[in-house]
Parts: sequence; C-alpha cells; structure tokens
Amino acid sequence: MSRHDCRKLSDDYEVVDVLGRGGFSVVRKGVSKRGREKKQVAIKTLRRFGPQPKQAGQKSNTSWGLPTWKQISISDALLTNEILVMRRIVEKVSPHVNVINLYDVYEDPDGVHLVLELCSGGELFDRIVSHKRYCEFEASVVVRQIASGLEALHKANIIHRDLKPENCLFLDDTSISSLKIMDFGLSSVEDHTDPIVALFGSIDYVSPEALARRQVSAASDMWSLGVILYILLSGYPPFTAATNTEKQQRIMAGDFNFEDPTWKTISHSAKDLISRLLSVEAYKRPTASDLLKHPWVIGDSAKQELMDSEVVTKLQRFNARRKLRAAAIASVLSSKVTLRTKRLKSLLGSHDLTPDELENLRLHFKRICANGENATLSEFEQ
Ligand code: ATP
Repeated sequence: MSRHDCRKLSDDYEVVDVLGRGGFSVVRKGVSKRGREKKQVAIKTLRRFGPQPKQAGQKSNTSWGLPTWKQISISDALLTNEILVMRRIVEKVSPHVNVINLYDVYEDPDGVHLVLELCSGGELFDRIVSHKRYCEFEASVVVRQIASGLEALHKANIIHRDLKPENCLFLDDTSISSLKIMDFGLSSVEDHTDPIVALFGSIDYVSPEALARRQVSAASDMWSLGVILYILLSGYPPFTAATNTEKQQRIMAGDFNFEDPTWKTISHSAKDLISRLLSVEAYKRPTASDLLKHPWVIGDSAKQELMDSEVVTKLQRFNARRKLRAAAIASVLSSKVTLRTKRLKSLLGSHDLTPDELENLRLHFKRICANGENATLSEFEQ
C-alpha cells in the first residue's frame, strides 16, 4: 500500500462506473493502468469540506499524518478518521480474508481517494434475500466470517463501532465468496478518535453502553454481531418499538424475546448464542475469539434444514425499508446546500427517519453551513 503526494489518481487508475454513494463519499469502480492484469478496484472518494489545499497532490494537515483535531470540520473528522483506521488496518491486520484491503491513497483538492479491494458480490442481506429459503448452517458461515474479521481487528485494538449488514460485502458472486468487513468511517483506534464520529451510527445495531455514552469497547461490536445474527435467523430486528426513545429503552434493558413463531424451529444453541451476545453487561458477551470456538459458529450445532420461508419474506421487507432510508439520508448529505435544505425539509415530514437520524441530519447541516461549505465537487451534484 502506498500514499501518493505527487502522482494523480488518473495517472494510475481509469475511473469507471459509480458503485454507490455514502453520506460523505462516492465509491466508483477503477481499473489499474499499471501492469498487464488491469486489476479492478473500488475507489472511495472521501469528500473534503472546509479549507482545501491549493494544488492537486499537495499535502494538507487533514491528510495521511495525524491531524490537529481542533482545526478540522465534522466531515473532515470523519474523513481523517477513516484514513487513520485504514492505515492501522494496513499495518496490523492486512491481508485478512474478512477485512477490506487498502491498496493506495491519493489526495487532491476534492478530497482523499482510497483505492480499495473491489467487492462485487453485493451486501450481506441482499444476497440472503435473493435465496427463497436458507438454513442455520449458512447463517453460521456468515457469523464465522464476521467473527474472524472482528477477531483480527480487535487484536489490532480497532473497534469497528458501526458494524451492520450493509458494511459487510461479499468479495465476488461465487457461493463460497468471502465476506469483507468495511467502512471504517466511525471506527476507533484506541483513544485517537474524535468523539464527533460517534454521532452517525445507526441505532438498530448500537450497544447499550454506546447509547448510554459509556465506554465503547470490542464487546460493543459483539453486541452488533448479536443483532445481525438475530435478524439473520428471524428476518426482523430484536429491538422494535413505535418510537426511538422506546427502542433505546428496550436496547438498554436488553428487552428482546424469541416469542415469534419463526423461533420455534431455531436451535437452542443459536438462541443461547444470541442471548450471550445481547447481554447488557458488556463483559458477559463472548469475544470474537470465543465465538470462533462456539459449536454453532463452527457449524457443529447449526441446523442444516431450511428455515421457515417467512424469515426471507420478513428480511426482504426489513432490507427494502432500510435501503430507502439510507438512500434518503445519502441524497440529503451529498447534494448541494440549497438542494439539501429542500430535501431535508421533505424528509423532516417523513416517517421514514427516526428522531435521532433527523437530529444528526440537523446537526450535520448546522456544522457544514457554519463552515461555509459550497459543495463544488461536480460528481456529488449529479
Ligand atoms: P457512510 O460511509 O456515509 O456511512 P456508506 O457506508 O453507504 O455510507 P460507503 O462506504 O462510501 O458509504 O459506500 C457507498 C456504497 O459503495 C455502498 O453502498 C457500498 O455498497 C459501495 N462500496 C463501498 N466500498 C466498496 C467496495 N470496496 N467494493 C464495492 N462496493 C463498495
């Protein structure tokens, strides 16, 4: 992995289709111009807000080196944090079959371009809902892969903090494809991370200690994995409520159950594992290394019979709603200020966003407007 201060992205990569957009980024497919193999990559451009360097390739204070936190805006905090964590991953974790690999970093006035391993196999839940039915054993393979990635990250003192199905992508389309953990925008390396980055996590997967603003640790990622496992086996999240406040209360109390009929056929071993992962007291949760020895996770006690087809139907519904919300938030965050205000207003009246999401959006707006940000990067405005 190398960082280029002088070379431009376009010297080394041909940038092709847009793969997706995040709140602060656009991800495009790229093809290497170096070597004969024409390696395909994903190029994640983290957009820069606030002061910009004057020329392409110029080093800035928000770049690869450790920044002065007080000098940077909220979006730069997210941008710099992701780079800081990716650097630690390159130093301490890569290559790992279940963690996204970073190949190159380029910087220009538009922002920072991370050249990443291309994952063309799609998001975790998208692949699962493309099957009519699936079994516990298949879910255990997914959990094993995530646990293996987390084990490596935790050993390197990296806490993901935003572990959710959309941050787990399959490397390719094959049935034996590895699953990669990615998106380290909210992650933390020991205590170097600015607390501002904790604002954007989604509540469904957030641990009780994070909600209570207590110490977040590797065990908080294990909670998120418990939520993912619960959804994989039932098609719906463990903590549902009419209001966000009520949902928070249920999470903090660890108030979930296995009462829905879909749980009747699920193995005792899987339910026991979920109950341990969703322990309110963080120290009671198994670690990623513990998980990799658990009989259900290694596949011994995971059932091979197909689960109720209702699970896939429910998961499809849950996934579609989640995508709609994510697209709405990304469209607001990545458009021009004037357009954003319009889109934000329409979203404010929408029931698709929770009060916390709306509050985060409002906060985000206040800060970027205070920074006099003018959204000049054309690719984000299309
Ligand atoms: P945010 O970072 O704002 O929380 P996000 O996680 O959706 O949002 P990105 O990580 O920028 O944003 O990803 C945007 C989209 O690009 C995602 O939907 C993802 O599917 C796709 N993507 C990201 N990284 C890769 C990759 N390495 N290979 C293929 N697709 C990718």
